[in-house]
Amino acid sequence: MDKIEIWGQVLDLLSKKIARMEFGTWFKNVELKEIAGAALLISCPSEMHKNWLENKYHSILLSTVKKTMPEIEKLFFEVDLTLAHRKNPTHAEIFKETKPRKLPNQPTVKLNEHLESRQIQSKFSLQNFIVGEENRFAHAACNTVAENATSGISQFNPLYVYGGVGLGKTHLLQGTAAEILRRNPQAVVVYTTAERFTNEIIQAIAKKKTEELRRKYRRVDVLLIDDVQFFAGKDQTQIEVFNTFNDLRDQDKQMIFSGDCPPAQLEGMADRLTSRLGWGLIVDICMPSFETKTMIIQQKAQEQGLILPEEVVNFIAINVRKNLRELENVLNQIGLIQELSQIAPTVQTVGQIFRKLHPTDQLLSDSTHPEARLAKNADDIITLVSDYFQIPATDLLGASRKQNVVFPRQTSWLLCKDVLNMSLESIGEAFGGKNHTTIMHGIKKIKTLTREDSATARHIHALKKDLGAV
Ligand code: ADP
Ligand code: MG
Repeated sequence: MDKIEIWGQVLDLLSKKIARMEFGTWFKNVELKEIAGAALLISCPSEMHKNWLENKYHSILLSTVKKTMPEIEKLFFEVDLTLAHRKNPTHAEIFKETKPRKLPNQPTVKLNEHLESRQIQSKFSLQNFIVGEENRFAHAACNTVAENATSGISQFNPLYVYGGVGLGKTHLLQGTAAEILRRNPQAVVVYTTAERFTNEIIQAIAKKKTEELRRKYRRVDVLLIDDVQFFAGKDQTQIEVFNTFNDLRDQDKQMIFSGDCPPAQLEGMADRLTSRLGWGLIVDICMPSFETKTMIIQQKAQEQGLILPEEVVNFIAINVRKNLRELENVLNQIGLIQELSQIAPTVQTVGQIFRKLHPTDQLLSDSTHPEARLAKNADDIITLVSDYFQIPATDLLGASRKQNVVFPRQTSWLLCKDVLNMSLESIGEAFGGKNHTTIMHGIKKIKTLTREDSATARHIHALKKDLGAV
């Protein structure tokens, strides 16, 4: 058997093990480059593919390869950009998709309303988005999408970015829109928020101009809708979004969405819409670590022409704990005060700013920081996890079966066990009197997820880092 045949067999087996969309996204244009003793070298069409195969599919790929070539022990990956645009006739069968029908008479008219371009703010770019472990995949995905957005060959369509409030979703979406426009100044790139989209529809219905609105959205080259959770319960709007989605996909037009949770967890939405939102690539962003925060602060300070002493940067990084928008508020205040008083900011003056903005929050100082990060008991972990996932601590202690609560809750149990060495019984007690077998199953579930899902692994790593445990 030659390389091509072997790889064909591997893909064939793999395609039966992984969901079709996922398989199409990650294994199309991936090739077996070399067989050397007990190792394979696998070529990937982008850095993103390489990361994903290495992190997420490594074990399933190796076990599948072993079915055909039991002697293989190691997989190596490389990037070969020429693969990205190659049609792959050899394995065409496996990737056979029912190609969406092309719409007849595609409109050639561009939008002449430039309303939307005003919505894209120049202060957000992919270049001034600071990359850390917490948002690396999301940033890479946006870059890849921006490169291919108008080529009609995007492999990530739609791209769906999710994360809590103030973690950079809007920044990423706007940055991506700006990057697409920079590369293709002629492209019709529409960025809108779910709220604005909804209002437009309501007005169009009132003025009996829905047909016009429909035409407008169907002529775009790239559509970005921010904060789709806002569509919850708005049935009429959801129908419009659904139809627009189908039309744009038929025309291979790139779409990018953001939301505060994964598509499957969106509430008050039609299933057929949430399933479509998850058809392409889903990436998440989390609260950045201390190090990433300090870099963001330095970047923003520089943009505002502020010079901050290192201890002030650290102080801000420690105390901005939930939402990065706060960071901008604090820097604006520092800027104002500096302009008025001509005095350089200190930890004291910045502390006063924080107190004014959030009178009830406890401020941490640089010296209390290391200890503050070291969890001593289950309560510390509960506080951290509730901050991190932006859910009330009472939900962690309660019994709700909602996935957006269950996952953080079970994650807290795992942390109690791994970081504090607590027994299953004492964890059960600390979490509102739960049975130790419940705790055991919960921890097991998260452990399995950590192995299978890179997002979970990153969450756990980030939390442990915050706890000073790694
Ligand atoms: P979201 O839309 O998720 O609520 P935003 O995109 O509005 O959050 O981000 C809030 C603030 O944090 C913005 O000022 C944004 O520029 C900033 N921000 C978030 N993440 C980053 C990052 N990685 N690098 C630079 N700035 C960031
Ligand atoms: Mg936003």
